[in-house]
Formats: sequence, C-alpha cells, structure tokens
Amino acid sequence: MKMEDSMKKTIKDFDLLNKRVIIRCDLNVPIKDGVILDDNRIRSSVKTIKYAIDNNAKVIILSHLGRVSSEEDKIKNSLYPVSIRLSELLNTKVEFIDETRGHVLENAIENMKPKDVILVQNTRYEDYPDKKESKNDPELGKYWASLGDIFINDAFGTAHRCHASNVGIASILPSGIGFLIEQELKMLGDTLNNPKKPYLVIMGGAKINDKIPVIEKLVTKADYILLGGGIANTFLKAKGMDIKSSVYDKDSISFASNMLKKYEDKIILPIDGYGSNAYQDGLEVSYSDMTNIPDGIMILDIGPKTIKLFSEYINKAKTVFWNGPVGVSEFSNFEYGTKQVCQTLKESGAIVVVGGGDSAAAAIKFGYKDSFSHISTGGGASLEFIEGKTLPGIDIIEEK
Ligand code: ADP
Ligand code: MG
Repeated sequence: MKMEDSMKKTIKDFDLLNKRVIIRCDLNVPIKDGVILDDNRIRSSVKTIKYAIDNNAKVIILSHLGRVSSEEDKIKNSLYPVSIRLSELLNTKVEFIDETRGHVLENAIENMKPKDVILVQNTRYEDYPDKKESKNDPELGKYWASLGDIFINDAFGTAHRCHASNVGIASILPSGIGFLIEQELKMLGDTLNNPKKPYLVIMGGAKINDKIPVIEKLVTKADYILLGGGIANTFLKAKGMDIKSSVYDKDSISFASNMLKKYEDKIILPIDGYGSNAYQDGLEVSYSDMTNIPDGIMILDIGPKTIKLFSEYINKAKTVFWNGPVGVSEFSNFEYGTKQVCQTLKESGAIVVVGGGDSAAAAIKFGYKDSFSHISTGGGASLEFIEGKTLPGIDIIEEK
C-alpha cells in the first residue's frame, strides 16, 4: 500500500487508562559536555507524552541518542540530560532508568502508577557490541514489547529505519502513531501532495546525488524549482558555465543537463553569488555574477540579485517546500542567502514546509522556528517520505 493512502491508528484510538504505554520519541538532540544545544526535538515530543499523562497512562519513553559503538560512546550519549529537560517541559517528574533492560527497569515499571513517566536509557546502548537495536534483533523487540501494553511511535526522525525500538515493538504490541508523526504526515503528505498553486520548491545543500530522486519527484509536482548551494553549481556547470573552483558533482552533470532540457522553464538558477578561495569562514569574500566568477573562487552563497529573483517567485507562491541551505549557512560569511530566503518566506504568507536536517537547523538558528507552517523533525526521513518511499517505522503501525 502507498503511504499516502493509509490511515494509521493514532494515540487517540486507544483507551490509555492504567495501561503501560511505550512511546518511541526522537529525543536525539545535540549535546555538548552534558549541555543540550537545541531542545527542539524534545519540545516537539511533549504533546503526545502530555496526552498520555492526561489520559492516566503509565508512560514509558524510549529514544535513541547519537550512535553507540564503544563504551565511551555510551557515556557521551546518555539520555540523562534529556530526562532533566523533559521533566522541565512537562512540568512533571521523569524517572530516568540508566539501563535498557534488566531488573531496575522492570521493577520501576512494576511500581508505576497512572501518570508516572519513565525515560529509559538510550536504545542504542543495545548497539554495542552487536547492533541489536539497529539490526532489529527480534529478541530485543520482544523484550521491550513485554514491558508495555500499547506502543505509540512518535519518532519521525527514525521512521525510515527498521529498528527494534520502532518496528520490533510495533510488530508485537497494539500500535498507533503520536501527534508529531501525524503532523509530519499531514504536512509532508497531504499538504505537499495537494499543494495550493503556485507550488514552489527551493532546493539547496551540498550533495546533489543524495537528492536526485527527490528532485525527480518534486519537479513533476512543482510549478518552479529554485536552486541554490552546491546543487545549483552542478546545474550551472551543466549549462556550460565556468564556475571556477566551486564544488559540484561530476557524476550528476548529465542528470542536471537532462533536467534543464526537460524542465527549462521550471528550474531557476542563481545569477550572482559570494565566494572565497577556500571552504572556510573568515576569509576575504568575493562577490560576482555567476557569469564572471574570478579565478580560484568557489561560490559559497547566493547574492542579492538572486535573492531579488527568488523573491519574485516566493511572493507569488501559495505553497513552498524548502530543503537545503542555499549557501554555507554555518559560516557567518555565507549565511546571507539562507537568512534572506527565510525572511522572504516568512513575509510571503505562503504555506511553508521545511524538510532536511541542515535547513531545519538553519531556520531555527536564524530565529524562524515559529515563522513557517511546518519544520520537519526528520532529516533523511522527510526526504525519503517525499520521494514516495515507505517508511518502515510508520508502515508497521496498525491501520484504523
Ligand atoms: P539538508 O540537511 O537540509 O537536506 P544538506 O545536508 O543537503 O541539507 O546540505 C547542507 C550543507 O550544504 C551545509 O553543510 C552547507 O554548508 C552546504 N552548502 C550549501 N551551499 C554550499 C555551496 N555553495 N558549496 C558547498 N557547500 C554548500
Ligand atoms: Mg544534511
């Protein structure tokens, strides 16, 4: 069955009273020296957890954090700091269990009362040494399932993976999706499948070859595609332009040429840009038209003429999907283009859906967290969904 045709059970379809409800969240936030740098994913998980508490469930939360392939990784990727933040956001006690299986966990669950909340240690502790979580070890999925009565998947960011903590548990327990996944499916699915026209796509980012299937899919649906970032370089090169030292992908030149031939009127490329003579922040910045890039310069951002051109399309659009920063937005020298795109999108009044890890991070970093209709919490998952791929973590959930 195609994902867009399915109607999955949601948390609202279950009677949660006194039930042990396992909620798989995506609490995979960046942490440095025990400090959470961006709590957006925790905030996005609150609604479903709150609902379970309000409906008198015993709430058992599972999440992964980073990757674990050594004992040191375990220390670095403990969910303990997340339990503290989650407790603040929920305004309720969150009991942190520092193990992924065993007597401490089992006894804690045994003693739970309705409205109690437990956060279990990082599911990927089970990946060391033998990848039990990431390879969906059936014994592990069965064990976790034995701890609950109902399973709710609300981890969109890992829905494109077949792991024990999503697919493994869902293949055993009665299952539904949470509010976050429901919202992701609505915005990335319904809204973008039936867009109010004109429908505009903005694509940037570094590597085009990852995104070829997405571009192929979107170009048929969208009225226009604006390109920036490294992707645009490959298209400019395919047009025969001399992009000097700019990063592009040789293997995707023929793809880009074919797209330009087939969709000449749809694909809009940058006309000017900023660059430097190395992929580095803080160096001297060069500005030029794309037709006139100085020797030795690599283009790292779009320029004001391009912003003006892009704004004309953005301001006419009724629906916009944006993926990929249009410049190296993590360098302060080259954040201009991405910031301007954010501001123009904000002012446009269009339905704006942002997908992709780096684009979402940029939008949030520049202060546009609440300016768009939806910022997806899934990087890879959002693109795979838009490509039309089945996401195993959602596919396994029961139909209504
Ligand atoms: P997303 O995660 O939103 O899908 P990507 O991962 O595809 O986005 O791309 C993000 C990366 O693209 C960023 O690290 C950014 O620095 C890089 N990038 C953007 N523009 C350029 C450019 N002109 N040249 C090289 N890299 C670029
Ligand atoms: Mg990325």
